[in-house]
Amino acid sequence: DRIARRRDREFSEFRKRIKDADQFKVEASVFDDATFAALYKLVQDGYIDAFGGPISTGKEANVYSALGGETAADVLDVDDNPEVAVKVYRINASDFRDMRGYLDGDPRFEGIGHDKKQIVQAWVRKEFANLTRARKAGVRVPEPMAVERNVLVMELLGLDTGRAKRLSEVHVENPETAYEVIREYMRRLYDAGLVHGDLSEYNVILHGEELVVIDLGQAVTVHHPNSREFLERDCHNVAAFFRRQGMDVTDEDLLAFVTDD
Ligand code: ATP
Ligand code: MN
Repeated sequence: DRIARRRDREFSEFRKRIKDADQFKVEASVFDDATFAALYKLVQDGYIDAFGGPISTGKEANVYSALGGETAADVLDVDDNPEVAVKVYRINASDFRDMRGYLDGDPRFEGIGHDKKQIVQAWVRKEFANLTRARKAGVRVPEPMAVERNVLVMELLGLDTGRAKRLSEVHVENPETAYEVIREYMRRLYDAGLVHGDLSEYNVILHGEELVVIDLGQAVTVHHPNSREFLERDCHNVAAFFRRQGMDVTDEDLLAFVTDD
């Protein structure tokens, strides 16, 4: 019918517009039609108004900055349309076998099959759910806004122009304070039943004076058969970073603090 035809036309115009946009020149080939449809839905739903440039092109996902729409402003409770971060997982590039292992034993994602597309979509929903749970537990993470198929929209970090800096990229003025903040985040996350699983100076972002933990896609619940191993690895990475900052901290001290034993 007429409405469907109009919708189709609007969608192809949208797709062409994105494909032609400079920032998507390289990536357009890796975006499949379903990804364009997901981005289109997010525009229609008011989460995205206009796309900015790429912030990061990773192994499995690309992160873009974008201008958020009215719904994004509502979620963050701000007057002006905020900037948002759009993380797009590439279904074909994703190492879904590895992802599958992180979904095992998670009571929230029981019965996820072995279909690549389904695994990646469960992964994105898991990242959204983990961000929500972390926030509730009092851990500073980007505020999650929407998830649509293989696309996650969240609060954009970084207060000054340009890309937000990782902890690994800055001179840490006060390592004692930073360590206390991060170990408290780890404890709160653990008390909320989550283990980050890839925590290091590369997944902590500086947002003004705040330290913000990112990249919670692989975070598992404590039910996961390897959650203890992941927690020990997180403790090792974090303690090693602060030892390099001249601090006298051990992996074991940190683990004891986080698990309270
Ligand atoms: P990598 O393999 O590089 O770790 P990834 O797929 O694990 O990538 P993230 O770590 O979530 O993805 O994001 C990659 C990079 O994008 C981050 O290091 C950071 O620079 C930037 N980034 C991610 N989320 C945000 C955000 N909400 N606001 C600002 N920048 C972000
Ligand atoms: Mn990362």
